[in-house]
Amino acid sequence: MHIALTAHDAKKELMVQFCIAYCGILSRHSLCGTGTTGKMVSEATGLKLQRFLSGPQGGDQQIAARISCDEIDLLLFFRDPLNPQSNEPSALNLLRLCDMHNIPVATNIATAEVLIHGLERGDLDWRDFVKP
Ligand code: PGA
Repeated sequence: MHIALTAHDAKKELMVQFCIAYCGILSRHSLCGTGTTGKMVSEATGLKLQRFLSGPQGGDQQIAARISCDEIDLLLFFRDPLNPQSNEPSALNLLRLCDMHNIPVATNIATAEVLIHGLERGDLDWRDFVKP
C-alpha cells in the first residue's frame, strides 16, 4: 500500500512518535510525505520515504495529485485545529480529494491508530482491487 504522511507543525512530533510506534508495520509499505514531516519521520525511524516539497510550498498538492490518480491508499494528515495555516485551502482540497476517491484518511492520532491496525489486519486490501 502507498501511505502519505503530513502533519502541521504542532503535530509533527506526534507524527514522529506514531511512526516510531508503528515502524514495523509502516516499513512493509511504500511511504511518501511532505518535506519537513518526511524528514523528521525518516530521521527518527530510518524508514525510507519519498519526500515531496514542504507542505506550504506545494508538497500537500503533490500528495493531492497522487490521490487524484489513485496512487495513495491511505493518508495520515495530523492537523492542528488551533492555529490557522498558510496552506489551509490546499489542505482542505486534500481532504476533499480523499472523499472524492474514497481514500481512508486520518486527521488525528486516534483515527490513525484505528487505520494502521486495520491496514495490518488487511481491512484495506480492497484498495488493490479498485485501482485502475
Ligand atoms: P511540512 O508540510 O511537512 O513540509 O511541514 C506540512 C504542512 O503543511 O505544514
